[in-house]
Amino acid sequence: MSKNIKGKIYDIQGFSVHDGPGIRTTVFLKGCPLRCPWCHSPESQEFQTELNWLNIRCLGIDDCGLCLGVCPRDAITKGPVAQNAAGEDIVYPLVDKTKCNDCGLCAKACKAQALYMCGTDRTIEEVMHRLLRDKPFFEESGGGVTVSGGECLCQPEFTRELLKQCKENGIHTAVDTTGFVKWETIASVLPYTDLFLYDLKCMDSSLHKQATGVPNELILENIKKIAAAGGRLWVRIPVIPLFNDSSGHFDNYGNFLSEIKDAVDLVQLLPYHKMGVSKYSRLLRNEKVFVAEPPSDKLMEERKKQLESYGLPVRIH
Ligand code: SF4
Ligand code: SF4
Repeated sequence: MSKNIKGKIYDIQGFSVHDGPGIRTTVFLKGCPLRCPWCHSPESQEFQTELNWLNIRCLGIDDCGLCLGVCPRDAITKGPVAQNAAGEDIVYPLVDKTKCNDCGLCAKACKAQALYMCGTDRTIEEVMHRLLRDKPFFEESGGGVTVSGGECLCQPEFTRELLKQCKENGIHTAVDTTGFVKWETIASVLPYTDLFLYDLKCMDSSLHKQATGVPNELILENIKKIAAAGGRLWVRIPVIPLFNDSSGHFDNYGNFLSEIKDAVDLVQLLPYHKMGVSKYSRLLRNEKVFVAEPPSDKLMEERKKQLESYGLPVRIH
């Protein structure tokens, strides 16, 4: 039964005012085919439920240590002496992710919930039950439900059914997408999607691939097809220093978006910020994290004006 279709979800956030018009509840699905180094929700990237660790909750091995000895794969050992937020010496557990298979036993043992599992399988029925609670706020504010990720269209069956049920309950729907999915998948959610929040990260395909791991041809093709099929769009451009923030790059955005401007209700410029950086340590990953200074207000205003000169409605996020 469709109500029993399960999606892997890492968060449901109410009272969101950034993910479409009005007050919205955003359902975040796990898994993404892209690996943007500036990603502010790296916990969304992997498709499976995974172990996370939040140092500010951890009591340390000397005062707690409940996680030591529970791992059947010997992935948890004593780490070196570090400093906690109060500047005190503390010994944290060290998790070797190359040995860990995300079984969750240590998260069960951790009473402080410093170790916790990110990603829960939830049915359509369970999620709808949660969403319907917020319906009065949607009605009051002209809001609705946004399905986001990760890339929510990588769980197409769940996303489609969730959108369908929202529409059946008179709720406005938005899909937040990278656009890096088969056109058939997008076409299958089109009848139930009032608005697409569509990321355009970079107009140069080789640069796009270098940064995110995938080229952009499919993404550009799909946005044109959505426009041609009558879909409505909020285009989201993350403004990333030394990547896509040049005047020449924004002329490329302007020229491309001019072709589909009748379908574009808004272009949102999202200045790069460092919020995601601290999250990488929670994921127990050792990868190199992209860090840069955020673009200045002056630059953001200049790029806004530049796109407006192409007749596009633009807002800085
Ligand atoms: S059980 Fe939790 S709180 Fe205790 S040391 Fe381990 S991670 Fe920290
Ligand atoms: S989740 Fe990973 S570290 Fe924790 S007990 Fe399971 S295998 Fe060990």
